[in-house]
Amino acid sequence: MSIFGKRNNVITYKVNKAINSDMYITVQNGEVVVNAPWYFTSNKIQEIIKEKKNWILEQIEEEKKSLPNMRNVKIFGKNYDIEVVYKNVKTPELNLQEDYTIEIILPNKYKKVGNEQILKMSIEKMYEQIANAQIENLMERVRIMTGMAPEEYSISKLGKNVLGKCLDNKMIIINPELFQFKREIIEYVIIHEFCHLKYKSHGKRFSEMLQKYVPSYKKYDNEIQGYEI
Ligand SMILES: [Zn+2]
Repeated sequence: MSIFGKRNNVITYKVNKAINSDMYITVQNGEVVVNAPWYFTSNKIQEIIKEKKNWILEQIEEEKKSLPNMRNVKIFGKNYDIEVVYKNVKTPELNLQEDYTIEIILPNKYKKVGNEQILKMSIEKMYEQIANAQIENLMERVRIMTGMAPEEYSISKLGKNVLGKCLDNKMIIINPELFQFKREIIEYVIIHEFCHLKYKSHGKRFSEMLQKYVPSYKKYDNEIQGYEI
């Protein structure tokens, strides 16, 4: 369902009806969901949406602002431009091209709605695929280099600015977004997490160990300033 908001902004919304629901509206991932008691008519819901339209449009705008600039992304330290095309496909597809562009193919149905969130999700999925394809080799290299091994490792999203983590149970978690950086940095972060298998905090002995494996680690630390490892 949809209504027109100010400046002809169309608000498209989904309705969830439940026996025990109060009336409330959520805006998430660009989607407006109206939760309503089962006995609310669609006219009544539409009226409420009209009343709340300014608030809803504000929420949508706020969400857009928090999305990253989706014109280019980095993979292995190289900049790729994003090109969005619409085709008759069912789900988003993504092609890495040799001229450093990423073609993202979106289903035609997304043409009219904001697609920032969908782009963000496609890019996240791409990092995950790259990470999953690379991680085993990297782990093996660092295992041989350091003579240590984590109990387990996994690729999964961490806090916004956390690229890697070594947990108390000696499990290493790598954020797929680490793969935006050049290969030396990716390897450095993994070595860094391996060093945490032995030393929990960034103390003197930790630094000495790191220095042994990555003599120029301070330079890399600088390049990933603002991120936690
Ligand atoms: Zn650390």
